[in-house]
Amino acid sequence: MTDSTHEQWLVQIDAELDGELSLVERAALAKHLATCSHCAGARASHLEVRVALARSAGNPHAFVVPRPAIRGGTLALWVFVALVTGLLAGWVADRRWGGPGGGATLEESRGTVVVH
Ligand SMILES: [Zn+2]
Repeated sequence: MTDSTHEQWLVQIDAELDGELSLVERAALAKHLATCSHCAGARASHLEVRVALARSAGNPHAFVVPRPAIRGGTLALWVFVALVTGLLAGWVADRRWGGPGGGATLEESRGTVVVH
């Protein structure tokens, strides 16, 4: 899977938005974002979180948001992402395999009726 490399890019995205990346690192990140909609989308939502944080801090035109302000907001974002991902996975599994209570259970109850 490529998940672990995506996570490394997400760390780079955070560092870039904090103004902590060198030119070489920013070039590598830009190259990856051009080919990876997953990370490009993540960067967009990271930026939106920062805009919201800067607004709530009363400084909507800030270039960067101080680290301590980010921690809480980023955590909330990831909890939200994890929740949505979990819900989607559950929904997909439900559609594909009929979810709990379908399939085998129906056969069993039919068998029970025959026995009686
Ligand atoms: Zn990526």
